[in-house]
Amino acid sequence: MKWLANVFKKRRGSAHIQTPRIFFTNTLSGEKELFISQKPRMVTMYSCGPTVYGPAHIGNLRAYVFSDILARVLGGVGYSVRRVINITDVGHLVGDGDTGEDKMTVGAAREKTTPQAIADRYTNEFIDNLSELNIDTGNLKFPRATDYIKEQIALAKTLEEKGFAYRIKNGLAFDTSRFPGYGKLGNIDLSAQKVGARIEADPEKRHPADFWLWRNAKPKDLQQWDSPWGRGNPGWHIECSAMSRALLGQEIDIHTGGEDLAQIHHNNEMAQSEAASGRTFVHYWIHNAFLTVEGNKISKSLHNDIYLRDIVAKGYSPLSLRYFFLQAHYRTPLSFSWNALAGAAGALDRLWKISRDIADESSRKSAPSEARGRFLAALRDDLATPQALGILWDSLKSEEYAPEEKWGLLQDADAHLGLSLLHATPTNVLTETDIPEKIRDMLVHREAARASKDFKQADRIRSDIEKSGYHVDDGPNGPVLTKTTL
Ligand code: AMP
Ligand code: ZN
Repeated sequence: MKWLANVFKKRRGSAHIQTPRIFFTNTLSGEKELFISQKPRMVTMYSCGPTVYGPAHIGNLRAYVFSDILARVLGGVGYSVRRVINITDVGHLVGDGDTGEDKMTVGAAREKTTPQAIADRYTNEFIDNLSELNIDTGNLKFPRATDYIKEQIALAKTLEEKGFAYRIKNGLAFDTSRFPGYGKLGNIDLSAQKVGARIEADPEKRHPADFWLWRNAKPKDLQQWDSPWGRGNPGWHIECSAMSRALLGQEIDIHTGGEDLAQIHHNNEMAQSEAASGRTFVHYWIHNAFLTVEGNKISKSLHNDIYLRDIVAKGYSPLSLRYFFLQAHYRTPLSFSWNALAGAAGALDRLWKISRDIADESSRKSAPSEARGRFLAALRDDLATPQALGILWDSLKSEEYAPEEKWGLLQDADAHLGLSLLHATPTNVLTETDIPEKIRDMLVHREAARASKDFKQADRIRSDIEKSGYHVDDGPNGPVLTKTTL
C-alpha cells in the first residue's frame, strides 16, 4: 500500500505519532488494521444515510449509533472528525440494483403528497431520532441528494468522457468491465452473479453488474432534471460519490454503512469515484452487522418494523436502545426483542443510579486509574463495546478503586459511549425500579398519548401523576420523574 508508506514517511518524527493506536476492521482487506489518517489529527468520514421515504427503523438506527461511537473514539484520541450523513431523497429503487419502483414515489403515493414533503418530514424525524440517541447532530452535515444534482451530472459526465460509461436508450450506464477489480469490496465474484435478473430488467446493459448513472424519466415521474442525456434523475449510487467528493474531498479516510451496502452500493460508489479521480476513494470501509427482530429481517410486511417512537411510547428512554446496541460488537448480528430491551433499560437504570452515588462520593472529582486505560484500549481495539461495558461495570462495582477513580472512568465512559452517565439523573430523579407500578402505568399511557399527539390526554395524565405526589418532565432522553412529596 503505497499511500500508507507515504503517510508514514511524512509523519516520521512528527507529534502525530504519539496519538494512541486505533484498530478497525476494514471490509476491503477483511482484516483488522491500524488506523492512520491521511492528515494529522483530522479524519473525514462519510456514512450512507437513510432513504427518506418513511421513518428510519431501529435497524437503520443501529448503523448511526455505530458510526457515532466510531467518531467518538476518534475524537477521544484528538482527531477532529469531519462527518457527513447523506439524505437520499431521489433515485433509490426498491431493489438496491436498478430494479423495482422508485422509493420516493412509493412514499409520496402512500401519503398522497409530494416527494419533497415526504423527504422533509422523514429527514426531520431522522435527525430528531439521532439527537434522542445522543448523537451530536450539530457536528454533522446532512446533504440532500436533490441539492447536488449538478455535481452528480458533472461526475457522470467525467465518467463518460473518460470512457467508463456508455449511453443507453434509458440514460447512461457505468461500464463495470472498464474498471479493473470491480467488486473487490467484500470479494464479489462477478461471474457468480445471476446474469438473468438484471439483464432482463434492462436488455441494453452490457453486463448485469453495470448500473445507471442517469436514468431518463417517464413524463409522469415527479422528480426530473435536465441533463446531457435527457430529462431524468440520477442513479442511486452516484449521489454518494458526488456528495462525498464535494464535502469531504476526493480521498476520504472512512466510509461506513450497514453490511448490506457493501456488495452493490459501495462497490459502485468505489468504481465511480476511483474511475473519475484515478485515486483511492476510501481508505477504511467499515460496516456494521444487521439488527433483526427476534431473528427475522425487519420488514413492514412481517409487521416487525419497530421505530424509536414505539420504544418511547412504551416508557423507555431512547438511550436504552443505545445501551442495547452497545452490548453487542458492531460486527455481530444482533436480535432485538422487547425483553432484551427491558433488560438493557434495567441495566442502564442501575448504571445511572451507581453514577449518581459516585458523583456524590467523589464530589465529581476525578483521578486516573488503570481501569480507564483498559476501558479505552477496548474501544480502540475495533470498538469492542461489550468488553468496554464489562470493564465499566466490574470497575464501578469493585472496592479496589477510589470514588475519584470511578468518577474519572465514568467521565471517559460518558464521552465515548454517550449514555448520559454524568448528567441524566439528578439525585431526586427516580429510576425505573423506584417507580411504583401505578405511576409507571400512567407514564406509559402518557407517552402513548404524546406519541399519538393526543396532548389533552397526555396533560390529563400528567395532572393525575402530580396528584399522586410525582412530577414528570420531558427530558431529552425521555420522561424524567421526580417525587414531590416525601
Ligand atoms: P436505508 O435507508 O435502507 O438506505 O438504510 C440506511 C442505513 O441503515 C444503511 O447504512 C443500511 O445499511 C443500514 N441498515 C438497514 N437495515 C439495517 C438493519 N436491519 N440493521 C443494521 N443496519 C441496517
Ligand atoms: Zn451511499
